[in-house]
Amino acid sequence: MKNGIYIVATPIGNMADVSERARSVLQNADVIACEDTRIAKKLFTLLGLETRKPFITLHDHNEEEHAAGILEMAKNGNSIALISDAGSPLISDPGYKLIRRCRQEGVCVYTIPGPCALICALQLSGLPTNKFMFAGFIPNKDKAREDLFNNLKGIDATLIFYETANRIVKTLKKAGEVFGNREMSVAREITKMYEECLNGTAEELICRFEKNEPRGEMVLMVSPPAEKEKPYQNAEDLLRQELAQNSLKTAVRNLVEKYGFNKNEIYELALRIKNE
Ligand code: SAM
Repeated sequence: MKNGIYIVATPIGNMADVSERARSVLQNADVIACEDTRIAKKLFTLLGLETRKPFITLHDHNEEEHAAGILEMAKNGNSIALISDAGSPLISDPGYKLIRRCRQEGVCVYTIPGPCALICALQLSGLPTNKFMFAGFIPNKDKAREDLFNNLKGIDATLIFYETANRIVKTLKKAGEVFGNREMSVAREITKMYEECLNGTAEELICRFEKNEPRGEMVLMVSPPAEKEKPYQNAEDLLRQELAQNSLKTAVRNLVEKYGFNKNEIYELALRIKNE
């Protein structure tokens, strides 16, 4: 194996999802960099792989420090497989700082793709896939959660978040307040025995979880805003297009009717554009 860092995706529930390439890299790498050596060794055992090689940790609390050692190993001719507890490394998991340094210091990086919870969830959801934004874990504090949702509200894309079972109802309540009746989806236990994907408004999903206690790992998705909820910052572009074809009065009326913009504000904007 060539020296360098191999980013290896591992199963998120079903062991049969490990790729042949992942298996071969894990078996042949000189060193395994992982979040937790016990979980990594258990994974190796489940996959029938040999655990007699160095396993070193790379997690949120030691990434900077341990990255230096891993880079040195790679520079000295070693192959290092980077895995997380499950799924794709670097995606709400450690590895970013290490890979950034590899790029800066000319150490080779290879990707061995495979399961990634956010992609699997999006595929299952039936929500638009042409534009999506992954926003990682939802903060635990009420204010931070609300601020995050408000900041993302106008984005014209399906929003994807990682969330835990014990917080999902609280999160859905806030999501309902901020995103209103937009369709949402919760994909849980993906690739496991009780995999399911539930769609509905926040209120409908809360009802569902009040009847059946939420369990397992989950991904929350929120559909993009409807045309009339789209961000106000587009107003000027839209107005310019309207003004190119219509009178000021008609352009303002069209924008107010189509997008629900404030009439006085749009009128003032239109006057400014006309006077440019
Ligand atoms: N890096 C991993 C990935 O992207 O595949 C994710 C790691 S992150 C620490 C763990 C979160 O991913 C969980 O809290 C959950 O939100 C999501 N997740 C992981 N496995 C899942 C599964 N089988 N079903 C649903 N969500 C899952």
